[in-house]
Parts: sequence; C-alpha cells; structure tokens
Amino acid sequence: MNTVSPVLEVRGLSKSFKAVKAVRNVSFSITRGKTFGIVGESGSGKSTTARLVLRLIDPTSGDIRFRGTDLSAMKQEELRRERRHMQMIFQDPFGSLNGRMTVRETLTEPQMVHGIGTPASRLEAARSLLAEVGLPAAALDRFPHEFSGGQRQRIAIARALATNPDLIVADEPVSALDVSVQAQVLNLLRDLQERHGTTMLFISHDLRVVQFMCDEIAVMYLGEIVEQGPRERIYGAPAHPYTQALLASAPGRGAGKRARLSGEIPSAHAAPSGCAFRTRCPHAHERCVLEAPGMRELGCGQRAACHLLEKAPSA
Ligand code: SF4
Ligand code: MG
Repeated sequence: MNTVSPVLEVRGLSKSFKAVKAVRNVSFSITRGKTFGIVGESGSGKSTTARLVLRLIDPTSGDIRFRGTDLSAMKQEELRRERRHMQMIFQDPFGSLNGRMTVRETLTEPQMVHGIGTPASRLEAARSLLAEVGLPAAALDRFPHEFSGGQRQRIAIARALATNPDLIVADEPVSALDVSVQAQVLNLLRDLQERHGTTMLFISHDLRVVQFMCDEIAVMYLGEIVEQGPRERIYGAPAHPYTQALLASAPGRGAGKRARLSGEIPSAHAAPSGCAFRTRCPHAHERCVLEAPGMRELGCGQRAACHLLEKAPSA
C-alpha cells in the first residue's frame, strides 16, 4: 500500500478555557496538497482549533504532528523555526496587516525573520508574489489602507506564501469581503494552492465556500467534530442530523424533506448532557440525553457520531 504521510495529524486535541470546553477530542489528518475544511456555526470551536494547530495557543491535551514532528511538545524557540513552514490567513486582512508597514516591508519581513535570502532576493520574491496575487509592482510602496478589502486579502495571501510554507491555515478568509470579491479571492487561493502544492486547513461557516475549496470536511458542533468525510459524501450523503440540518438551511439549497436548523447553538458554558446537538435535533430521543454518541465509521472515509447510526455497517 502506498501511504502518503500526512502533513498535519491531530489526535485527541482538547482545549478548555476555565470551565468552558472550547475544543473536545478533535482528531483529523491532512494529506499533502489537500485542503481540509472545518465548517460549523460561530462558537463551534473552529477558530480555536486553527490556533491550536499553529500552537498560537497551547492545547489542554492532545497531539499535533506537523511534518512528522510533535508540535505539542515543542519549546518556543523550536516553534519559531517551525513557523516558517506554517502560515495563517485571517478573516480581517486589515487587522492582520500592519498598517504602518508598506507592502514591500510586509512581504519581505517573513523571509527576513526566518533568515531566508538577501535583501535583493527578498525584494525580488516580493515582486513575484505580488504578480502572483494579481497586484501591480507599484503596490510595493503603498500602505494597507490604500487598498480595498479584496486587495488587502491578496496582500495577506502573498505574505502567507512568502516563506513557501507546507501548511496554510485560512480562518474565514473571505467572510469579511463582498460576495462579488469572495469568488475572486477563492479562485486565487485555489490556483495558488495548486501551483505551490500547499496543504491547507480551511475554516468557514459558509457551506458553499467549503464545498468549493475543500477535499475533505469536518463538521464541528460545540467544540466537537460530529461528522467528517470526503466532500462528495458530506454534501451528497450527510449522515449526522446536524450536517443534514446545516445543508437544508444553507441559502440556495431547497430544504426538501429535511428539517432546517432551528434554535440557537447552546452556550459552551452549559453544553447539554449526552449528545451536544440534542436540544436542536429533530430525532433526539431518551438515550441522547443520557449518553454521548461515539464516532462511527460509515465507509468511504465518512464517519459521524449519532446514536441513529449504530446499525450502520462499519465498512
Ligand atoms: Fe440527534 Fe440523538 Fe443523533 Fe444526537 S445522538 S444527533 S440528539 S439522534
Ligand atoms: Mg471564528
């Protein structure tokens, strides 16, 4: 069997903030060159998972293996070196770009910090990054506030590529942009990823965006992955009632026979007993109150955690 070792492998990742379990027992891996999506409503733990993966915050428990080495045990100094290979794109490009730095400084800084190249080669790299993201060389001497939201996100993408990282974590990279601009930025991200063979962890609340971008998808609810699988399975044959309700509630998709999502996501301070989704689930029954469902393999790489799937054949 020809197994490609994953760029990122996360096992049993959990994070508590005081009494709040923000992320619970999250496990997934991402194959080189693939895009792994995490989708869920706000408050589901998506962004916390992203920050944990990059060790921007420390996990309460669990393992993060990046390119075969355990990040969860790494000291700050080692982590700093490793960060060259992992970059992040945030939702708000204005907040994430330093407003006092020119585009030239913004794009040459990552290489400088990691001791890559010479001033001349870094400038050359900045020019070619700008061209790659579709901005003119004249942009080099301008400041972030002189650009539109979409252009700023292009600059943030160029900066993320500056160290030629193995992994890019993109947290809601287009949700602050106008819908007309979103598609352009997503197309750009996909093209660049193909060209550079970058592996990506892509986080969004928007099912359409995730469907467009991702090969494999995890659906999170109240800090846990409730369903995971290849895109075709998640969108074509969703198994978990939450995934089904999310899809039925998405704009542009007919609700059909499936129940739409109703009610609010409960506070993580007061997560329900048993199955976390039970307060909104149309199929909730007594057992769901008492017992948290375990993850079940459904075949074709799909798995989900719901008592209703108990009889599903484990392929
Ligand atoms: Fe619904 Fe029960 Fe399944 Fe949870 S375990 S999703 S409450 S049926
Ligand atoms: Mg978020």
